[in-house]
Formats: sequence, C-alpha cells, structure tokens
Amino acid sequence: MKIKKRDVILILVILALAGGLLIFAKAQRSAASTPAASAASAEPAPSDEPTSNEARAQAEAYLEAHPAESYLYVEAAAGALMVPLTEERTIPIDQGNGAVNNIHIGVNSAYMESSTCDNQNCVDQGEITLENRETRVLYNMIICIPHDLLLELMTPEEALEQLEALYQAQLETAAAYAS
Ligand SMILES: [Zn+2]
Repeated sequence: MKIKKRDVILILVILALAGGLLIFAKAQRSAASTPAASAASAEPAPSDEPTSNEARAQAEAYLEAHPAESYLYVEAAAGALMVPLTEERTIPIDQGNGAVNNIHIGVNSAYMESSTCDNQNCVDQGEITLENRETRVLYNMIICIPHDLLLELMTPEEALEQLEALYQAQLETAAAYAS
C-alpha cells in the first residue's frame, strides 16, 4: 500500500534535531518554473554524477547518520519528517489553527497519543509496529484525515526510497528556482 507523493513537495529546511529529525517544508512550485533540466548547470558539480545519484547519496547519508530498524515517516501539509524509531518519546505536531497531534514513538513502534481532531479516528487506529504492520487494516499507516496528517512506519529500504524522492524533489526545485 503506497501513498502517492505530491509533486509539490519541496524541501526547504533540513534540521538535525536532538533525536535526528529531518524536516521537509513543502511549497507550491511556481507555474513558470522549469523542471530539472538545468540542475547540472545551476551549480558547478564536483563530479559528473547525475542528479538522481546525488539524491540517493543524500538519502543514504541520512540513514547512515540515524541508523534504525524502522522509521516513522510523518507527512503534513506543511512538511514531512523521517524519524528513526530507536527510543521512546512524544513528538508534537502543531499545524496551527488548533490542529495539534501528539505522536508517541517507541522502538519500532508508533501510535497517535492524542489529537484535537473531531473524530479521533487517528487515536483509535492504535499502534503500528514492525511486527503488526502487515496485518493491520491500514497496514503501516495511521491517518488523521481532518488534519491531513499521515504516519507511515517504514523499513530502512522504504525510508531510503522515500527520502530519495524527497531529496530529488528538493534538487529539482532548487534548480527551477535558480533558473
Ligand atoms: Zn485525527
């Protein structure tokens, strides 16, 4: 089961917080902007490697710096996080306008601890773990529809693919803005 990535995803800020969070900000791509064609010429490339290898290398570097058996991908309207599931803690996601979710993570597990949404479906969806993710109704996901918030418990392989797509979108957007 796979959520289609929105091509408007843009990575503006990458923050390595104490727990090792990657924060991707999204913005709308300008209609006038051109796609990645100019990526190579936008900045003097230290090597002849194509852009796609660069995105792959960035994704691999992130996972190497934050090793884990599983990761929680968190996607909201304003951005996304890739959280290594190596410790117990609560991650607050405050999207403004009263939309607040508290995500509880543990080692290879996550659940929605609380939410200000009306239906509380996300809280009722229970816990995702590396063990139960194949058998849950929503597989590896917890979704808060009122807050447009998606959580996905990913294997390192899945996290790598997701991060590569995000970095690739960032590179393409940077190239479009530079042109
Ligand atoms: Zn909810």
